[in-house]
Amino acid sequence: MIKVALVDMDGTLYDSMPLHSRAWHRLTGELGIKADEDEFYLDEGMTGAATLNKLAMSAWGRTFDKAECDELYARKARYFREYDAPEVMKGARRVIDGLMARGIKCVLVTGSGQNSLLDRLDDDFPMAFPVDRRVTSRDVVNGKPHPEPFLRGAAIAGAAPEECVAIDNAPLGVESAYRAGVRTIGVCTGPIPPEVLKNAGADLVYSSMDALADDLDGALGIKQ
Ligand code: MG
Repeated sequence: MIKVALVDMDGTLYDSMPLHSRAWHRLTGELGIKADEDEFYLDEGMTGAATLNKLAMSAWGRTFDKAECDELYARKARYFREYDAPEVMKGARRVIDGLMARGIKCVLVTGSGQNSLLDRLDDDFPMAFPVDRRVTSRDVVNGKPHPEPFLRGAAIAGAAPEECVAIDNAPLGVESAYRAGVRTIGVCTGPIPPEVLKNAGADLVYSSMDALADDLDGALGIKQ
C-alpha cells in the first residue's frame, strides 16, 4: 500500500529543463568545453557539483575544487534566473492534487539547490511540500543516480521504500529510485525516449504528467 510519493522537481513539477540546459550550455561555452545542449538532459538529477566535475573530467581529466564548484554553480544558477521563470509542468498540479486527495504524503526529492524554484513550491503547490519534506542537493552526500536521495525521502516521511512511489522524468532519477527499492514512475516530459526510462528501471512510464494524472489509481496500484 503506497503511503508516500517521492516527487522530483525539474522536468516533473516545473518545465524548467530547457532553461537548465541553456544555462549549462552557456557556462560550458565560457569554459571552452564542447557540449551539445541536449546532453544535459542525460545528466539531469545529478547535483551541480557532480555535473561540473563530470564536465571537467571529460575536458581536462581533473575535477574542480570546492571553491571553483561553488563559483561555477552560482554562475549557472544566475544564468537560469536571468531567463523567464519556468511554468509549472502541465498536468503536475493534477497529479499532486490527486495524490493529496488520496491521503498520500508528498516529499520533494530533487538534485537541485536552485532557490529560485524551491522558493516557489509553497505558492505553486500549496501544502504539498513543506520545508521539512524536501530532499535537495544540500541534504545528501551522494546525488542521483545513487539511491541516497530517495532513501532519505522515504526516511523523512517515516516510510519504508516499498510504501513509496517515485515520480521522475530523468534516467538518473529513475535509476536512483529503482536502486532505492521504490516503485518508480517515469514521465516523459522532454527529449528522452520512454525506453531509456524503462531501461533505467521505471516500473511504468507515462507520456506526460496529464497522462499520469488520468491513470493515477493504476499508477499507484489501487484497484478500482
Ligand atoms: Mg527531473
